[in-house]
Amino acid sequence: MSRRKTKHRTGLPRIKGIGKKVHNAWVGYICICCDALNLFSIGDTLLNPNDAYSTAAWKCKECNYLHSKDSPLPFSEWPSEFTDPTSIKCRRFWQAFFRIITENKESYWKQCNACGRILPSNAFDRHTGWGPLEKQMECRSCKGAINAYLNPKRTKQQLYESNIKRRVGDLLLESENQAVDKNFIDDLFRRFNSTCFKTAKKLNKNDRDSWEIDHILPSSWLYPLSKENAALLSKKANNNKRNKWPSHFYTNNELIRLARITGADLALLSRKDPTVNSNVNVDRCVTRYLQVRERSNLNKRIKELKKLIKDYALIDKLSLKNKKLLGYV
Ligand SMILES: [Zn+2]
Ligand SMILES: [Zn+2]
Repeated sequence: MSRRKTKHRTGLPRIKGIGKKVHNAWVGYICICCDALNLFSIGDTLLNPNDAYSTAAWKCKECNYLHSKDSPLPFSEWPSEFTDPTSIKCRRFWQAFFRIITENKESYWKQCNACGRILPSNAFDRHTGWGPLEKQMECRSCKGAINAYLNPKRTKQQLYESNIKRRVGDLLLESENQAVDKNFIDDLFRRFNSTCFKTAKKLNKNDRDSWEIDHILPSSWLYPLSKENAALLSKKANNNKRNKWPSHFYTNNELIRLARITGADLALLSRKDPTVNSNVNVDRCVTRYLQVRERSNLNKRIKELKKLIKDYALIDKLSLKNKKLLGYV
């Protein structure tokens, strides 16, 4: 199958030369003689079942059997009163044969503009006003792939695990974070010129509900909050950023500007894949985490902590005492 080189905005190449024919209806039927699937395009006008019965003469591409009301039925087991084309039984057979193939939009077939397959009409989602079948250009399989490309969604499980990591990270880093006091906030507003870094919207320091501090390198990867690791964002922009790795949210130009404003390490910010903070004193964080008594459900907390430490390969950074406490030795 030939494909165009240019990419459509869906990220998939289109079948070359389909053009307006993309909406064409196809007739699809199984040969009653050899069972071969026969497919042919009929353009943008659907057939009328009665006309098809009266006029059709469809030759099977495999065995050349002619599908027409004038052909005898090729079923050798059937009595001649059924197979003789002049008989009423045979006429009824042909009427129903052509009706099944042409009776409504769902009876037809259509070519997918992405994978090129010719598929039954119900393999396509509806699109009102598009061609005689009113179906989308891509089959539902291709649509699935396209939607995944346009809108990559994390699975529930991934989201759940990332939320746990964030929670554990937040607790672990409590004593490592810089205090967000008046000085911190004044400094943030000064450096970001009282403007949302993502949307350039002016922000009012005193309207505390309108802005948030972006923890640029996320706490789920064990980066504490610091002046270097903070950006000023509108509440809306930060809702989109949340736990994301900086290069998954900011453009390259934004990352360069961000490093200039904050003094952060541009190479780290622009890394494609998240990487755990190797500079944080994990052992100190764990010691404090284990000492906080008020928090309920210790078993669950320890299970989550151990998963994070294992996933990030940090066991070796723990003191012997903490390794014992967590049951590593
Ligand atoms: Zn055939
Ligand atoms: Zn397809």
